[in-house]
Amino acid sequence: MRIIIVGPPGAGKGTQAKLIVKDFHIIQLSTGDLLREHRRQETKLGQAAIKYMDGGNLVPDEVILGMVAEEFKKPELKPGYILDGFPRTCPQAKGLDQLLEDRGLALDHVLVLEVPDSELVRRLTARRSCSECGHIYNMVFNPPAVDGICDLDGSPLIHRSDDTEETVVNRLGVYKKQTKPLIDHYQPQGVVRHIDGTGDMQDIYQRILAVLK
Ligand code: AMP
Repeated sequence: MRIIIVGPPGAGKGTQAKLIVKDFHIIQLSTGDLLREHRRQETKLGQAAIKYMDGGNLVPDEVILGMVAEEFKKPELKPGYILDGFPRTCPQAKGLDQLLEDRGLALDHVLVLEVPDSELVRRLTARRSCSECGHIYNMVFNPPAVDGICDLDGSPLIHRSDDTEETVVNRLGVYKKQTKPLIDHYQPQGVVRHIDGTGDMQDIYQRILAVLK
């Protein structure tokens, strides 16, 4: 099964992707996570990405496509994957079309999570994640038991440097201008599935399951 999950920042792509991965035994490939790992390891790519990420702008297409092409060489991806946060522009979608075509593969689903802007700003500015395991909390709807500490492994929680209100507003603008047009790119393939991304995390997941099964 090959899936793309698309949606504005804060729509819950990462959270839902993790639930799908568990049930369908496929791999989650998040370009945001890959970039954050490059930054943590202070690679050349990671250092080049800082200024784009912290301003809420997109990292150039050729950098992203090079990084994804490397990931596609891994045998773990054979059973299937969910692409989270990629593609984010039409050139990236065309690059992905080529990567798939070279392997004789096609996409099964493009899940589009729909959430109103006001809700996204509320979710993102209150979002915290575990510095070790990446588990996501929300200080309003889903806080940890002990303030600032991950329930799962006791590590400190961090506030992503691009989750400030100013950057969030820019990221929403970038999504509308550069990422939303992707839906038109995939429409002719008959794989686009719109999902209501509001409400409880498990309810949203049930809506996704209804589409996948
Ligand atoms: P995310 O964790 O998916 O919200 O990504 C965090 C940041 O990483 C984005 O705001 C971009 O700066 C960068 N990024 C992640 N994925 C991509 C992509 N496919 N294309 C360009 N930039 C990306």
